[in-house]
Amino acid sequence: MSRIALLGCGGFIGSHFLDAFLLDPDVRIEGWDWTPAKILPHLTNPNFRFHSGDIYSQPDLEALLSRCDVVVSLAAICNPSQYNTKALDVIDSNFIQARKIADLCAKLGKWLIQFSTSEVYGQTLAHWTGAGDSNPALYEMGEEETPLLLGPIASQRWSYACAKQLLERYVYALHKEKGLYFTLIRPFNFLGPRMDFLPGRDGDGLPRVLACFTSSLLDRKPLPLVDGGGARRTFLAVEEAVAALRLMLERPGLARNQIFNLGNPANETTIRGLAESMRKAAADLTGDATYLSLPLVDVTAEEFYGEGYADSDRRMPRIDKALRLLDWEPRQGLPEILHRTLEYAFRIHGR
Ligand code: NAD
Ligand code: UDP
Repeated sequence: MSRIALLGCGGFIGSHFLDAFLLDPDVRIEGWDWTPAKILPHLTNPNFRFHSGDIYSQPDLEALLSRCDVVVSLAAICNPSQYNTKALDVIDSNFIQARKIADLCAKLGKWLIQFSTSEVYGQTLAHWTGAGDSNPALYEMGEEETPLLLGPIASQRWSYACAKQLLERYVYALHKEKGLYFTLIRPFNFLGPRMDFLPGRDGDGLPRVLACFTSSLLDRKPLPLVDGGGARRTFLAVEEAVAALRLMLERPGLARNQIFNLGNPANETTIRGLAESMRKAAADLTGDATYLSLPLVDVTAEEFYGEGYADSDRRMPRIDKALRLLDWEPRQGLPEILHRTLEYAFRIHGR
């Protein structure tokens, strides 16, 4: 039997983790989050125990972690609209609080699987040198060799990436000096149902791009393209990311003390391309071709996010390490992922 501590179990990735891992009757999960709104069906599962409220104020946290085999830490503020507007909270959440879990794992001798971000790579060498697309060594991101290139301090966008990078360095130092077993995960834009919230429907504020575009489609409003929508991302189905986690837990000897990119290089598109694909997915799903002509409108980053926003130009993961050590390879194409994700959103939130 394996006992897993899941911090941030009520969020997007956490909810999919529970869907997959609670199918296994030999798994027991202790989960923490502010709210269980996205994981209500699991609350009655006898193999899952939910602890609500702030993780770091739980008096029995250390005792409960000490009874688990592995600690998976997802808890973080990870919404780009807050990186430049609430940088103090972002740094607190992604480093100052998060390091306490790393310290506890080192003290208790527990394996920590810590979620970091692909954003630690910052902007590509191709961006900084103006070299263009011709040389993959200048834009591909590899766990061991690629430098982490963040922008200037006044570009507060990088508060998140910087805090996550410091957390990675802290975890690595705990490994070197105190023997912590760790795995660091760098997600490259996971997609799937239950990501973020839809403003005015089940939350307020500005979510990540998938939820922004989904809201626009549901409301039949223009899809906003920040600075022309030329930034590029690769997208991975969240279920395939969770499958990688399962392989890690099955192969601790190979997964421990490693950093893994989790992404799908075959699913690269510009944000404009993503908007077009989502319009098409909505049209295919509903049989209503008018979705195809919803306007794409340009908006400046300053108007959309406010002062201090900057963008990652491109995020192209190398995933050969996950293939070699875990035998993990993503297969779902972007149209398939978007179809499933929008099907869920339209079913839950109506048209
Ligand atoms: P999410 O916001 O949906 O989930 C995070 C959860 O942590 C939320 O439910 C939140 O309530 C909870 N949480 C945060 N601080 C807490 C606290 N102090 N007490 C209790 N609960 C707390 O985010 P996600 O998309 O599931 O991402 C999970 C992790 O993966 C984060 O660390 C994020 O930085 C990283 N990540 C995700 C992606 C992605 O594509 N989804 C990309 C890069 C990095
Ligand atoms: N973006 C956009 N329109 C939106 C929301 C986001 O053009 O309504 C852009 C954003 O500027 C970035 C990309 O989409 O270039 C991805 O944004 P997301 O919020 O998903 O986070 P990121 O991938 O930057 O971490």
